[in-house]
Amino acid sequence: AIALSEVDLSLGSGAARVHILKHLSFSIEPGTSVGIVGPSGSGKSTLLMVLAGLERVDDGAVMVGGERLDRMDEDALARFRGRSVGIVFQSFHLMPTMTALENVAVPLELSGRRDAFARARAELEAVGLGHRLDHHPAELSGGEQQRVAIARALAPEPSILIADEPTGNLDADTGRDIIRLMFEARARRGATLVLVTHDRALADACDRRIGMRSGEIVEDVSAGVVP
Ligand code: ATP
Ligand code: MG
Repeated sequence: AIALSEVDLSLGSGAARVHILKHLSFSIEPGTSVGIVGPSGSGKSTLLMVLAGLERVDDGAVMVGGERLDRMDEDALARFRGRSVGIVFQSFHLMPTMTALENVAVPLELSGRRDAFARARAELEAVGLGHRLDHHPAELSGGEQQRVAIARALAPEPSILIADEPTGNLDADTGRDIIRLMFEARARRGATLVLVTHDRALADACDRRIGMRSGEIVEDVSAGVVP
């Protein structure tokens, strides 16, 4: 499960310091899909970074998968990231010098998995890229690159999948394929899915929709009670 309690976070220094997350509290049941919506600058990406253990909070408690991230040292946080969360970005973030297979396998290997290459191959086959293992990102379409990123996110078998505008750089049809893949993966593993999207239809397809504005939650609706 995910539970945030009274979370505060500011970033930047001096005159550029911005209060981004303001006394944020909410919880998410395991296996739920949650769509986060809100205007640009409302703190959506920052919130995902907190859930992924990539950004520390100034105040409040952050519980993800039964672990208190706000109390972890850097080593523990790094282990948490390698094991418990998978993250997918709008702009893919693949290593250009590595093949598709290496992009998925190398991070796994670094986190100590002995079966890294076998797992990576299976994960790429599951997203329909078994015939593109030796291609480099520049030799792949945007949709194929995002599939590699999804395979990389899922390879450690995380209980939480996080996605920041995963379809933002894709055409509508390719975007739908990517969303279907993520929902399938989530159903197959019973993983929690937290995604940020500007696509209201996609947010409404989730079990729950959370709306943010200026670092606060302004709506929180479950499927079935969406007006
Ligand atoms: P978008 O929909 O445009 O992606 P968002 O909701 O994801 O927006 P965030 O990226 O979380 O917004 O940023 C929230 C606010 O925090 C913005 O006003 C941004 O300028 C500010 N911000 C983000 N990172 C930093 C930083 N490192 N230093 C200072 N301010 C920052
Ligand atoms: Mg953002």
